[in-house]
Amino acid sequence: MRLVVLGGGESGVGTAILGKEKGYDVFVSDFGKIKENYKEVLISNGIDFEDERHTEDLILNADVVMKSPGIPEKAPIVKKLIERGIPVISEIEFAAPFTRAITIGITGSNGKTTTTMLVYHLLKSAGLNVGLGGNIGKSFAQQVAEDKFDSYVLELSSFQLDGIVDYKPHIAIITNISPDHLDRYDYKYENYIDSKFRITMNQTEDDYLIYDADDEAIAEWLKNNTTKAKLIPFSLTKTFNEGAFIKNNNMEVIINQDEFKMETESIALEGKHNMKNAMAATSVAKLMQIRKATIRESLSNFQGVEHRLEKVLKIQNVQYINDSKATNVNATFFALDSMNSPTVWIVGGVDKGNDYNELMSLVREKVKAIVCLGVDNKKIIDAFGNVVDMMIEVSNMNDAVRMAQRLTEKGDTVLLSPACASFDLFENYEDRGNQFKQAVQNL
Ligand code: ADP
Repeated sequence: MRLVVLGGGESGVGTAILGKEKGYDVFVSDFGKIKENYKEVLISNGIDFEDERHTEDLILNADVVMKSPGIPEKAPIVKKLIERGIPVISEIEFAAPFTRAITIGITGSNGKTTTTMLVYHLLKSAGLNVGLGGNIGKSFAQQVAEDKFDSYVLELSSFQLDGIVDYKPHIAIITNISPDHLDRYDYKYENYIDSKFRITMNQTEDDYLIYDADDEAIAEWLKNNTTKAKLIPFSLTKTFNEGAFIKNNNMEVIINQDEFKMETESIALEGKHNMKNAMAATSVAKLMQIRKATIRESLSNFQGVEHRLEKVLKIQNVQYINDSKATNVNATFFALDSMNSPTVWIVGGVDKGNDYNELMSLVREKVKAIVCLGVDNKKIIDAFGNVVDMMIEVSNMNDAVRMAQRLTEKGDTVLLSPACASFDLFENYEDRGNQFKQAVQNL
């Protein structure tokens, strides 16, 4: 059997290693450059590869092709493979049959990483032999090749889900759905929603789907479609006989008639959106029969993930918060919503078709000044120019932080939550967040 792997990054190299171990004739092809460290791994495993080209003769003879999530379906080589009827699948689809471990699959537009890390923290702290993969850290396929774990927590993007055929997680989470990546879905929101729900398409009566019951797109899909999985909803506003909800400042999670209850104040993660992530993660912990005392302890000591509403420093009683990962309006909405002091908001970057109206009332209520940090700030200025007293434009992070500091008084907050991608001025959102933290430290 010939396995061709398109893309020589983390998931590609992991898949190649697993394929080789399972006796496939493996070939890796990347149209871009493969990083040196990955080349070394391929060479030391005796795996054939090419980069900066796709040699059709070596690709179109595949029995099965693993396409890395970054390569669009519209790429010419992928189109040719599909025309010839050669199966093109994702890493998760390829690797899952080779392990008996159960998987917990987490998808959604925002909150995937936070929820995935929290679930992992809950299960690991409880002593389970659990691995972490998908879009995070080491590839799932390579971990399957090493065969170390009894269960995996996987962060799954819609691109990973587009390439599944038979894969099913035992427990699935859909954190929420809002428009994102529409360029890869023919600009049709329905297509993106359907892609997220592929996470449940192979689930059976023995499996679970945990979802945000406050989310319109999710509610609409569930009304018009079916899944065999047992449904576990979570909500900030409703209560359930089975599911997770907030009541009298407590988070309650009821699964199999057993109730877990914890004061929201004792949960380390802050903000309404994080309460949702905590409800989703706790539902998994209950389904996995983790002891209540262990769940309680883990929820009270989980410090969140870098670049997601990360508290950086307090200087002259002004709190600086790094939310560089907020690359869309929905994420920024929850960041602004969780502010409880007058806020100087650093925003801007590459706009992905943002509708800033959604933020209007929060900006009126919480934001005293705006620092625009992007090459083109026109949309932001048009939207909020008449709403806040102070608005300034800057073109690098040091200026942004220094200007923000000047606009603050004791007790204020400076929030970097860009609602935009970072590629105009930064390498990626991590670079943007790191530059912010460095600039704050230099104040
Ligand atoms: P993802 O992996 O889906 O991109 P992250 O956990 O990295 O999600 O969070 C991305 C951004 O969204 C951060 O700014 C974070 O504060 C915000 N966020 C986290 N959870 C949620 C949620 N449940 N709803 C909306 N925004 C969220």
